[in-house]
Amino acid sequence: MATALLGKRRVVHAVDGLTFSIGREETFGLVGESGSGKSTTGKVIARLIPASAGQVRLDGEDRDVQMIFQNPYASLDPRWSVFHIVAEPLVTHRVVPRRALRQRVSELLDAVGLDPSHAQRYPHQFSGGQRQRIGLARALALDPKLLVADEPVSALDVSVQAQILNMLRAIQRRYALSILFISHDLSVVRFVCDRVGVMYLGEMVELAETAVLFREPRHPYTQALLAAIPEPTTRRLRTMVPIEGEISSPIDPPSGCRFHPRCPRAEAICRQEKPAFRELAPGHHGACHFA
Ligand code: SF4
Ligand code: MG
Repeated sequence: MATALLGKRRVVHAVDGLTFSIGREETFGLVGESGSGKSTTGKVIARLIPASAGQVRLDGEDRDVQMIFQNPYASLDPRWSVFHIVAEPLVTHRVVPRRALRQRVSELLDAVGLDPSHAQRYPHQFSGGQRQRIGLARALALDPKLLVADEPVSALDVSVQAQILNMLRAIQRRYALSILFISHDLSVVRFVCDRVGVMYLGEMVELAETAVLFREPRHPYTQALLAAIPEPTTRRLRTMVPIEGEISSPIDPPSGCRFHPRCPRAEAICRQEKPAFRELAPGHHGACHFA
């Protein structure tokens, strides 16, 4: 089941009954180890893959949700000029008259910090950061309400990461975008996200405002993730260090609380009963019998 209701309150239901809302101009982070289902959630919401059960419902149109990826090069056709790449959705959806295409593409390139006079160049002529800007210009072409950004800076040099993240913020304000920001990099998430949802094996286990989550994580999984971040002794970006134990298979998840085989606080009830996702404090939700 995946539902994205893109009205004033942008409510998103994704894998396993997961429900959350993303406000206008809000950046909502999804974190978790690989295999946690965060990319799948993003793709289901962007309708790039079908939901495994039920239907995907979208109030509004498909084009209200657009996605950018970790490796923009893979999603940019090397035979197409930048103009062609950015103009294509505009042509397909007939949102601007042909005579206005050049103008609109120039505006989009300008908005993402690219020189519109480079529109006739090809993706291989750009750096990684510039390619991410091209992908973003294309994603913005249809004026989406929600942008799903799956590890958008993970493949970039640290110096370029900050530029892209700052540019995303500026774009967000200019276009009143809601952003679903998927990342395994907690320092990036802390920098860009207003609220954060922590995923484990296809389920959200904790959700809170970013500052609250980092200050007082309540779920043992979140606590383990945060404990695994080394001290900020260098300016190198700190990524998620694997926590102890193998992540279980999402195909055949453990009974009760899915985290119990790895949880230092697990008790008998954790194997038997699935903890409800409940409000622990105003705006702070978690799924743990003992949180
Ligand atoms: Fe750990 Fe039990 Fe809480 Fe799951 S419900 S996180 S196993 S203490
Ligand atoms: Mg992923």
